[in-house]
Amino acid sequence: MQPPENNAITDTAALNSYPVMVLLVDDQAMIGEAVRRALAAEPDIDFHYCATPDDAVAVAERTRPTVILQDLVMPGVDGLTLVRRYRDNAATRDIPIIVLSTKEEAAMKSAAFAAGANDYLVKLPDSIELIARIRYHSRSYLNLLQRDEAYRALRQSQQQLLETNLELQRLTNSDGLTGLSNRRYFDEYLSAEWKRAQRDKSQLALLMIDVDAFKAYNDTYGHVAGDEVLRRVATVLRDNCSRPADLPARFGGEEFSMILPSTSPGGARLLAEKARRAIEALGIAHSGGTTGGCLTVSIGAAVLVPEEGQPSSRLVEVADAGLYEAKRNGRNQVVMAWPKG
Ligand code: GH3
Ligand code: MG
Ligand code: MG
Repeated sequence: MQPPENNAITDTAALNSYPVMVLLVDDQAMIGEAVRRALAAEPDIDFHYCATPDDAVAVAERTRPTVILQDLVMPGVDGLTLVRRYRDNAATRDIPIIVLSTKEEAAMKSAAFAAGANDYLVKLPDSIELIARIRYHSRSYLNLLQRDEAYRALRQSQQQLLETNLELQRLTNSDGLTGLSNRRYFDEYLSAEWKRAQRDKSQLALLMIDVDAFKAYNDTYGHVAGDEVLRRVATVLRDNCSRPADLPARFGGEEFSMILPSTSPGGARLLAEKARRAIEALGIAHSGGTTGGCLTVSIGAAVLVPEEGQPSSRLVEVADAGLYEAKRNGRNQVVMAWPKG
């Protein structure tokens, strides 16, 4: 897709080279002929003549004039009604209208301007004045179109920038292998939730999840199969986060974590057990595993109500101690850990 700036330039260039296009709506062929002659010597002015008022709006829609010369008195539809119709039509709403009248009359003028006309001429003015007014109104109309086009292009590029920034933010915060939040976002989120829990005096839970004997898995089945296992474990963790505020993340290597705001020790243990069992239930064969020939994980869980001045890394340390304990006790299990002292 082309960048929006290029589109804008193309469209602006098209508008700049757009010729002046006059549409005359008048039932008298003689007037049509006179205006055609007056404009004949102007190569950049295109002229279109419409003698039937009933067709005028459709012709204007089709020919896209930069100015309409509109006769006031015609059989059938009168000129003022037509002016209102141009104004009510999206395609012709902003086209400048010069009303052509047979006489200089204040009431008529005022009615024409009230209906939406931009200018009023008694017909037929000399060609110098007619051409000057046609050029003036056409230029201002083209400027209006250019301005609208520039705004449209600006809005489009702003929208694109917004989307690019969102995508960039997503890429910056997510792990390329598993699609989970990465360590950078984990740190950011933990710090924000820690502060919130401190303010609210609420419980913040953290699970640290580590694949058991993963080095042996890689050694046996290869790194490509190892990567696939990490993706499958990530999917289970993502599916086990039920609340919108729960954040599963790849902490690094074959370690994952889950931040669970406003979660009690009981709730954290329940979720950790559920995740552990779900990963075991995947039934991924692991001959070098420590338990039952299947790939498993060990989980350390911690829940703290943050104290004044305590860093969020405290929660990671406590959960890590639980994980260490789970490994020491034989792996494939959940251990709740509590701060010492
Ligand atoms: P333990 O049960 O004590 O956790 O043993 P372990 O083998 O899982 O632990 P260790 O820390 O010794 O080994 C972790 C392994 O994880 C080593 C490394 O090759 C592997 N690993 C880390 N990141 C990736 C990855 O992105 N892809 C693959 N395939 N393997 C990875
Ligand atoms: Mg491991
Ligand atoms: Mg590890």
